[in-house]
Amino acid sequence: MIVGIVGGGQLARMLALAGHPLGLRFIFLDPAPDACAAPLGEHLQGEFDNRRCLEQLAEKADVITYEFENIPEQSIAFLSERLPVYPGAEALAVARDRLREKSLFRTLGIPTAPFATVDSREELERAAVEIGLPAVLKTRTLGYDGKGQAVLRQPGDLDEVWERVGGVPLLLEGFVPFEREISIIAARGRDGRTAFYPLSENTHRDGILHLSLSRPGDPLQPEAEACAQRPLDALDYMGVMALELFQIGDTLLANEMAPRVHNSGHWTIEGAEISQFENHLRAVTGLPLGSTEAVGRAAMLNFIGTVPEAARVLSEPAVHLHVYGKAPRAGRKVGHATLRAKDEEAIQGQLGKLLALV
Ligand code: AMP
Repeated sequence: MIVGIVGGGQLARMLALAGHPLGLRFIFLDPAPDACAAPLGEHLQGEFDNRRCLEQLAEKADVITYEFENIPEQSIAFLSERLPVYPGAEALAVARDRLREKSLFRTLGIPTAPFATVDSREELERAAVEIGLPAVLKTRTLGYDGKGQAVLRQPGDLDEVWERVGGVPLLLEGFVPFEREISIIAARGRDGRTAFYPLSENTHRDGILHLSLSRPGDPLQPEAEACAQRPLDALDYMGVMALELFQIGDTLLANEMAPRVHNSGHWTIEGAEISQFENHLRAVTGLPLGSTEAVGRAAMLNFIGTVPEAARVLSEPAVHLHVYGKAPRAGRKVGHATLRAKDEEAIQGQLGKLLALV
């Protein structure tokens, strides 16, 4: 079976690495000549709305999936008319627009920070009064890794914040003084059966994920699962989905969902029985889902900009190094390292050693 992936970055690369042992083959659509998934399959080099490339992709692949949500809607519609696309067009449409996403959470009774749409400078003023400050102004579409957002701390910040992100459809959200950022990764198969990974506890730096820790047995696991189950069922979802949540005390507030494999689930390659990548492929190709059970404790450290020298990182024998083969660039995710250990104390000890090395 040939899986077509829209996007040829590191997520597509790790999907292909997980899929080859299952006998799957891959074809990627990506405009970059050096797309890092390309060595693992056929690479159609073209923009995501290139009709000729989309036709070829539809002809050659048996099923389509994608590694990011900012794909032109017409491209997904074009592909969906010709072959199965999982997760489906509705899930993608919800996840690519923060307003639709938050509105769905609200409809499904999933708590979120208060939010209001902002389409003009006047509306920003009104929304700031309604939501209260501090608040976070976010572009409704195309934002990622903290891009397209700005924190509004006092009324005097309005001009500067509007200058930075204004002029496109926006959402103003109440600032959440969270204790923890967590995410739950779920896999839902074609038969509707859903499996959840243990929670990931995430730390960001400059809006980019820095560290994820697996949290098997976390007391908030059942509540996080209940939050994720609702959109999965409402969207008749197929594949892996990540739901990012803020924790305040015993309360969880949904921030956003990603209709794909997710950076905070990279630890599942070594730290779970079957990884998020393999389970996503199993779901979209109609195979039975595999176990999402944790294998010990895991920690995943992202490498942003450059990958430290391999010999140095690997001088710690427990480290699993993943190098994506991308050119170094500030703010770019170029690799990660995962550690696995039997318990919390051991994982923290190993993580301390790894952090000292890098
Ligand atoms: P997002 O693009 O929505 O995932 O936001 C990126 C990061 O900004 C999150 O992981 C949080 O660390 C922070 N952030 C986003 N929204 C809020 C909020 N409403 N309150 C506090 N921090 C936020």
